[in-house]
Amino acid sequence: MQKKYVPLVVFLAALLVLAAHLGARAALSASTFALAQERDEEKRIYLTFDDGPSTVVTGRILDTLAQEGVKATFFIVSDRVPGREETLRRIVREGHTVGIHSATHVYSQIYASDEALLADIERCAACISRVTGVTPRVYRFPGGGTAERERQSALLAKRGLRVVRWNAVCGDEETPGAPAQALVEESIRTAGGRRTVVLLLHDSAPHRATAEALPAIIAHFRAQGYDFCAY
Ligand SMILES: [Zn+2]
Repeated sequence: MQKKYVPLVVFLAALLVLAAHLGARAALSASTFALAQERDEEKRIYLTFDDGPSTVVTGRILDTLAQEGVKATFFIVSDRVPGREETLRRIVREGHTVGIHSATHVYSQIYASDEALLADIERCAACISRVTGVTPRVYRFPGGGTAERERQSALLAKRGLRVVRWNAVCGDEETPGAPAQALVEESIRTAGGRRTVVLLLHDSAPHRATAEALPAIIAHFRAQGYDFCAY
């Protein structure tokens, strides 16, 4: 090779190395993108328990969640906390999320006005903070809310609260006294094979059947490849 061509060859070789490097980077980011997409399509279930804490039912549910290594979200009624502070602390200690449901769960009071709604939420949040030291960030409207709920959700978002609804139910409130097996079947039926399921359950005192149904509900969704998530 003539000496004058050497710089040109070196330059071309450097270009080749650079092109290969960029190509590899592009391939890598394409595969990262594919991975992110795959993750988006993963199946997720959020187990959400409303209306507690209660002594026996919440305790049994926490036992099952601990045995199964599953985290859940508890939307609590703070008027039900006195005498059950330890149960509320246990929810937090075992890594679950505590959300605001209400202070009273009395619809006529809560939904009397925006001010009444905010006061109810404030009371429940203060109880959670006082007992557990945690500032709650998620909220569930008692009874699912009123026709005003979209406007009120925006109001709550400004205060740093995320409103959590549901898209599947176990039927423990809809069918009082339903046996555990019926609650398992209703959970599966209403989940309808969605990739993201937010399942509504209740851990207030009457709902022993819900605690009884929980191991089979977890087993079903686990077998279907769902990850269990908390807010
Ligand atoms: Zn409720």
